[in-house]
Amino acid sequence: MVTLTIDGVEVTVERGATILEAAKKAGIRIPTLCHDKRLIPYGACRLCVVEVTARGRTRTMPACFNPARDGMEVATHTPKLIEARRLQLMLLLRSHPLLCPSCDAAGSCELQNLVHEYEVGELPFPRENRYFHVDNESPFIRFNMNLCIKCGMCVRICDEVQGERELSFINRGMVCEVSTDFGRPLGCELCGQCASVCPVGAICSKWLVGTGRLFELKRTDTTCSFCSLGCRLTLGEKDGKVVYVSSPPQSPNEGNLCVKGRYGWPYIYAEERLTKPLIRKNGALVETDWNEALSFVADRLKTLKSTRGATKLAALGSARLTNEEAYVLNRFVRTVMETPNLDHAGGYTYHALTEALWPMLGYPASPNSIREIRRAEVIVLLGADLNETHPVAKNEVIQAHGRNRAQVIVVDSVQTKLSGRLGTMFLPVPPGSEHLIAYAMLKWIISQELFDKKALDLKAEGFDDLVVSLEDYTTERVAKITGVEPELIAKAAKAYAEAGKATIVLTTGMNRLVNDVDLARAAANLALVTGRVGRESGGLHVFSEKANSQGALDMGLAPDLLPGFHRIEDEAARAKFSGAWD
Ligand code: SF4
Repeated sequence: MVTLTIDGVEVTVERGATILEAAKKAGIRIPTLCHDKRLIPYGACRLCVVEVTARGRTRTMPACFNPARDGMEVATHTPKLIEARRLQLMLLLRSHPLLCPSCDAAGSCELQNLVHEYEVGELPFPRENRYFHVDNESPFIRFNMNLCIKCGMCVRICDEVQGERELSFINRGMVCEVSTDFGRPLGCELCGQCASVCPVGAICSKWLVGTGRLFELKRTDTTCSFCSLGCRLTLGEKDGKVVYVSSPPQSPNEGNLCVKGRYGWPYIYAEERLTKPLIRKNGALVETDWNEALSFVADRLKTLKSTRGATKLAALGSARLTNEEAYVLNRFVRTVMETPNLDHAGGYTYHALTEALWPMLGYPASPNSIREIRRAEVIVLLGADLNETHPVAKNEVIQAHGRNRAQVIVVDSVQTKLSGRLGTMFLPVPPGSEHLIAYAMLKWIISQELFDKKALDLKAEGFDDLVVSLEDYTTERVAKITGVEPELIAKAAKAYAEAGKATIVLTTGMNRLVNDVDLARAAANLALVTGRVGRESGGLHVFSEKANSQGALDMGLAPDLLPGFHRIEDEAARAKFSGAWD
């Protein structure tokens, strides 16, 4: 820890923290236009300059990328600093169009706010106008580089957090702009992270243009309803309609959203959405009210139960229901309909994974948090295509790889976005054989005595049985089945076993052929044998498909026997059920 004084306030921070971070901790605001805690300090805007006195010398330096040191005395708002910031703002305004009244970012523009705060008036030098074409080609994002202040936030978040590297600065001097290579249309994930960090109006959400200003919107915090990562959203509403979605920087997802979370909401107003119940009468679906619809369903279920029997009834829920809804459905199906035929769509894969983990870890879910992935030194993705299924968790892998040089090992039956990254170890396997690689890694680790004996003695039992059960999983034999070179399997095993912090990621949601139960067992065994369970940035990460997959299982929206959903679908298709409630 280091202790310093900022504007007379003594503050202690971890060694390595910047002066800017120390000031924040001391409750002192230093203005910035190019800083974001998710990004590597850049020092472009020079607004965070402070005066630092140490060892009898006073120097002016940017607070965002100079580390706090013991005994430093920092002044953040001296007349000299205020004048330096005013000059810096004037230089930015020199080529920034002064069209605030008609700019869509007015009211939420950081540059505008600082110009007011530092009372910048007439510019002491001539203005220099730039003329860039306004790019409206993307379905969600508008680029108006005439407003750009070259803070580089969009370029950096696209590279450092998203791993897309879609944007960069092209040209130099006054004609420098942020663009794709050769100005081609965006070919990225369209996550909108670039628009979310732009401090001015140079990159913004196209749907907001002409709709209203950000400060006018009614804001409501909620949770994303797509995948199971549960990113926090803030819905912006105007005239009773959602027009904008963002995420608060202090949320567990640090303000990061994927394209689904940020732009996937227009389904709320889709014309095809059913808003009233329908009953089929004389072969045609007819609109009705809820009283008639619910009475109809109750009568039909009662009749079918008394004439055909409760076992001929089935019900399917959803992993997008709330816990309360899932619990009520569970109780209704088991105690009123009196049938065990209950499941939810997509639950069969996550159910299989967690059922396998439960007896091994004593817990049917991920034992580690998402944010720990970024500090892992080795990340093994076993059939986990995070870019497709859980994009914000993919950002964690990108950050671990980009900042900490983490070794990413992808075992999958298809090329994924992460498997194609420079430095990734890719083990391509036939569909459904990812677990064989995990077992071969396990056997190799044991044969090389790279397991954690102390952790095994303390936390695991049945090690001798495990060794016997792995007899057939030599790297050579698994290589013959999967086509992956035995040396590559051994290399992956060595990297995983020898890393200080290593984790394994399993996901559901791609409907690829994966042997879920065996995969989960193999992954849990790998983590247990190497002593990763219960350690930071170790263990396992298991991500389910839908927003409340975990809650659906916890609330009992699952069959007593696996695989439920498939059986209900098959049997319904073969007309074994008389009534099904979906
Ligand atoms: Fe929503 Fe998942 Fe995307 Fe987060 S990663 S915004 S929870 S779909």
